[in-house]
Amino acid sequence: TQLDLIRNFSIVAHIDHGKSTLADRLIQLTGTVADRDMKAQMLDSMDIERERGITIKANTVRLEYPAKDGNTYILNLIDTPGHVDFAYEVSRSMRAVEGSLLVVDASQGVEAQTLANVYQALDAGHEIVPVLNKIDLPAAEPDRIRQQIEDVIGLDASDAVLISAKSGLGIPDVLEAIVKRLPAPKGDRNAPLKAMLVDSWYDAYLGVVVMIRVMDGVMRKGDRVRMMQTNAVYGIDRLSVLKPQMVDIDELGPGEIGVLTASIKQVRDTRVGDTITHERKGCEVALPGFKPAQPVVFCGLFPVDANEFEPLRDAIEKLALNDASFTYEMETSAALGFGFRCGFLGLLHLEVVRDRLEREYDIDLITTAPSVVYHIYMKDGTMQELHNPADMPDLTYVDHIEEPRIKATIMVPDEYLGDILKLCQDRRGIQADLSYAGQRAMVVYDLPLNEVVFDFYDRLKSVTKGYASFDYNITGYREDFLVKMSVLVNDEPVDALSMMVHRDRADMRGRAMVEKLKELIPRHMFKIPIQAAIGGRVIARETLSAMRKDVTAKCYGGDATRKKKLLEKQKAGKKKMRQFGKVEIPQQAFINALKMD
Ligand code: GDP
Ligand code: MG
Repeated sequence: TQLDLIRNFSIVAHIDHGKSTLADRLIQLTGTVADRDMKAQMLDSMDIERERGITIKANTVRLEYPAKDGNTYILNLIDTPGHVDFAYEVSRSMRAVEGSLLVVDASQGVEAQTLANVYQALDAGHEIVPVLNKIDLPAAEPDRIRQQIEDVIGLDASDAVLISAKSGLGIPDVLEAIVKRLPAPKGDRNAPLKAMLVDSWYDAYLGVVVMIRVMDGVMRKGDRVRMMQTNAVYGIDRLSVLKPQMVDIDELGPGEIGVLTASIKQVRDTRVGDTITHERKGCEVALPGFKPAQPVVFCGLFPVDANEFEPLRDAIEKLALNDASFTYEMETSAALGFGFRCGFLGLLHLEVVRDRLEREYDIDLITTAPSVVYHIYMKDGTMQELHNPADMPDLTYVDHIEEPRIKATIMVPDEYLGDILKLCQDRRGIQADLSYAGQRAMVVYDLPLNEVVFDFYDRLKSVTKGYASFDYNITGYREDFLVKMSVLVNDEPVDALSMMVHRDRADMRGRAMVEKLKELIPRHMFKIPIQAAIGGRVIARETLSAMRKDVTAKCYGGDATRKKKLLEKQKAGKKKMRQFGKVEIPQQAFINALKMD
């Protein structure tokens, strides 16, 4: 394809502003997918994405658009995730395209992720077309939002395209704007092959699928190619474009985006950002590489039923094939037995993985307290990374502890500003900036990541009735007075509940934890002390009194089926319990105990 007939673009937006709906409309209007095969959110392929309405993996689709100028253009759309945890995937797919549609909900305006995503697009050198969506809503204020885009982002929005992705209004204007206002890719067909490895995933039928963007040269089916970072050589079995299902193609030239399969064993053999060239007569200089995504939140995943360890291992290995940013290693816990210590890009990522394990592989899991990565400086001058509070070294050897800090940007309507400031203050935040864009305040806080991983996002949403938006990036490490808090149930330490906390917050957290556990642990035939401790010193204590009656005694004597049902229900409930010494703790207790109010 001629370069000037190609346009590569992504859509950037805050979550829920209509990115997926717009993508659907573009796919539909260009006839890429027949109407009868059209289902909502075409590009969000995983069930969990559909259910939660979020886009997790970047996806791509090739559209053919006969423009008003009489030419038919190839439009490659890369859909990117909107959530903070997946910012890394956004940044890498941005580098494969030349332009972005900036979708802003005309009834909501600019939000934290609008800003975060648009800055990434600007960093990648994109031309940007602002699109105001949801103008069908009575609350839409396109003029005000246009002004806001100019004020807050500094982007000329005078010729923003006004659309309703839902009704289809304005979609032809979007297609024309893509062709007229976004630049064509550049590249040299006669130069040695230089292609960017944009993404890769595992497909049950095809094995590893690699998404590429050709910069220079031509890639053909059957070619032997070399990955420049790993030096591995593969023969290309299949070359395709996504419409969005795979359609085979003989070659991909400069500016084109497609996928290849070769006999690649696992996703880990493909490095995102790597340069692919020909085995012979390859290019000399690789494209600048990407930084690999670093997991920032760790937690333990244990099967509720110890017999499910092997199935869990299987499931985790399969998942990891498909998600290179997820890490795992085996872990043993005195209380929970065999499991895995897993690393995630953030809390949503953690939830997504846990959900998929439970749903797709049908394994009941216990998730331990999420923890950030601490830097433990030892008295002998060495530093070790702590991924698991259970591994905290003896304090007599520790000089000091550093924790990761973030720069959090929060956008919130005026009337909730006070609540947000209080929330951030309570979480050991230091205010860095406060400015206004119309009725909305933009607050920037320096916060410890450890105060954010538990439930900050939930709290933020609840105190602002869902009106606040939030984005963050890690800024570095700083020393603070951190201690390990342990939890003892019936005098047995439950290492899965131990956590690192700031000393000033330990009493409060300890108290909250034992009170919660008292409610979450069912009564037993004996009384159970529940304690929180730092080292050998107990900082909070509750006692769960003993149960008096047999539960089935409540049923009237004669009704055997009812009694049986109750016992069965209890048995099913047991499946989700875990034995600690003499005490059974329900799975839900682990999850709920970690949420703070
Ligand atoms: P994404 O998170 O940016 O991908 O947003 P979605 O495309 O999933 O849209 C979020 C919600 O907004 C969905 O319920 C859509 O049906 C709705 N929506 C999207 N576009 C429009 C629009 O133009 N008008 C209205 N009224 N609703 C829309
Ligand atoms: Mg979406």
